[in-house]
Amino acid sequence: MENLKNILEAASIKPTFERLSILQYLDKKHNHPTAAMIYEEVLKKVPTISKTTVYNSLNLFIDKGFVTPLYITGSEVRYDFATKPHHHFFCEKCGKIYDLEVECPIFKKKHFQGHLIREQHSYFRGICRDCLEKEKMAK
Ligand SMILES: [Zn+2]
Ligand SMILES: [Zn+2]
Repeated sequence: MENLKNILEAASIKPTFERLSILQYLDKKHNHPTAAMIYEEVLKKVPTISKTTVYNSLNLFIDKGFVTPLYITGSEVRYDFATKPHHHFFCEKCGKIYDLEVECPIFKKKHFQGHLIREQHSYFRGICRDCLEKEKMAK
């Protein structure tokens, strides 16, 4: 929690209990949730929190650059709290988003082929190992 407080303060964001709870959920679960999922979870801990507060906080975190919105599913925004860039794998079957630990030669570059890079999103889609395993067992 202290760590998260430092992140907020370093970004000149007042570390309110609501904001800390949202960030803590993202940090702990690391399950790339939707805003609705975050709201449902944080509500258990902070019964006074509103959906608007969740959305506003997420947008603030995105503005400051330590939360990344993912548009992988095509129908909803999922949120990621990550300190270093990484690729994603989206399972079309169960909807889970996994982090892929691979070195990407462009991650550390600010410029590439004359372009200025401000955001990096790379993802793969398919069927995850858990779903593949389940399919095998069902046969
Ligand atoms: Zn799956
Ligand atoms: Zn991720």
